[in-house]
Amino acid sequence: MKFNTRAIHGGQHDIDPAFGSVMTPIYQTSTYKQTTPGGHKGYEYSRSANPTRSSLEQSLASLENGKYGLAFGSGLAAVDAVLKLLEPGDEVVTTNNLYGGSYRLFTSIFQKFGIKFHFVDMENAQDIVEHINDHTKMIWIETPTNPMMNIIDIKAVSQISSKHKLILAVDNTFATPYLQSPLDLGADIVMHSVTKYIGGHSDLVMGALIVNDKALADKLYFIQNSSGAICGPQDAFLALRGVKTLHVRMQRHCENGKVVAHFLKSHPKVEKVYWPGFQEHPNHIIAKAQMKDFGGMVSFSTKEGSWESAIQILENLKVFTLAESLGGVESLAGHPASMTHASVPKEDRLNMGIVDSLIRLSVGIEDESDLLADLKQALG
Ligand SMILES: *Cc1c(COP(=O)(O)O)cnc(C)c1O
Repeated sequence: MKFNTRAIHGGQHDIDPAFGSVMTPIYQTSTYKQTTPGGHKGYEYSRSANPTRSSLEQSLASLENGKYGLAFGSGLAAVDAVLKLLEPGDEVVTTNNLYGGSYRLFTSIFQKFGIKFHFVDMENAQDIVEHINDHTKMIWIETPTNPMMNIIDIKAVSQISSKHKLILAVDNTFATPYLQSPLDLGADIVMHSVTKYIGGHSDLVMGALIVNDKALADKLYFIQNSSGAICGPQDAFLALRGVKTLHVRMQRHCENGKVVAHFLKSHPKVEKVYWPGFQEHPNHIIAKAQMKDFGGMVSFSTKEGSWESAIQILENLKVFTLAESLGGVESLAGHPASMTHASVPKEDRLNMGIVDSLIRLSVGIEDESDLLADLKQALG
């Protein structure tokens, strides 16, 4: 089946043999009746498995062209589960333009348990090789990156990863399975913050992992069940509802993102616009090859350049809401230097390109003319 059909039906057949409800019921239960010890219908305790969550997990696996899906209480809980595959002394090569929460989890939690992280500029995938040694077990990437919209060549990284027998994990939150299929490009694990585009309505916090390999799926399931960071059935239901319109929403996010990126590029007060759809984007060709379209995330800096100029624009916006997060139907705007990347030292921040005037937009699916008018008045 094609993606659009899988978004609606993937993994979700015959979920309610009792009454035939078309929508997956919310199985708001912690436990399940057994006829004799061990005599149950596949579910015994909801940390281990819950039918609403299972339905979502199968749906997400189907969207990522994977065999196994696991849903967690947040995106970071999903990242946490992946890192628990490692042991003290193991090393990870990851990108230097990483989601702030992943960076914090790596450096403030897992580093103290003896795992070493190398933060590498991966715009040229070959730069990874010199950081690989006998202790290296995993490569962790995200693309496009937040908030600079750098693109990493997943196929090139996966060739390096398989040559050295490493696990390649890809945070596919920004692209979504609609735009990009990391498993098809050679990744071993796809991770999502379902909170963002997959949920799509800014009404839940959730994470997911999708894999193809049975042994890897078993290990991750063991970690999920042992550590217990699962999502609840109500949130699984909301995510399933979100998934059904993912393809339609993404199409509009991409259309509006393109219009907004071009508008900003031609605006006299704007210095630079970061969006992988521009031909002059350093990795436009890779973006074009590995993504179906360029997404709804756009960052830009002002010519005036000051922290204050960015705050002024953000306070002026009326349709765009000043808020953390991204990927919902409504347009959001943020100031990475004081919000998502506030904890990164200024020098490191500037090295990543996150200047004081940088603004990150999550372009929603409102009418494009209202979005442009809002940006115009806010910049004016
Ligand atoms: C939000 C986000 C996460 C973390 O997910 P939560 O659901 O907030 O825990 C990880 N990676 C990326 C790229 C994100 O945007």
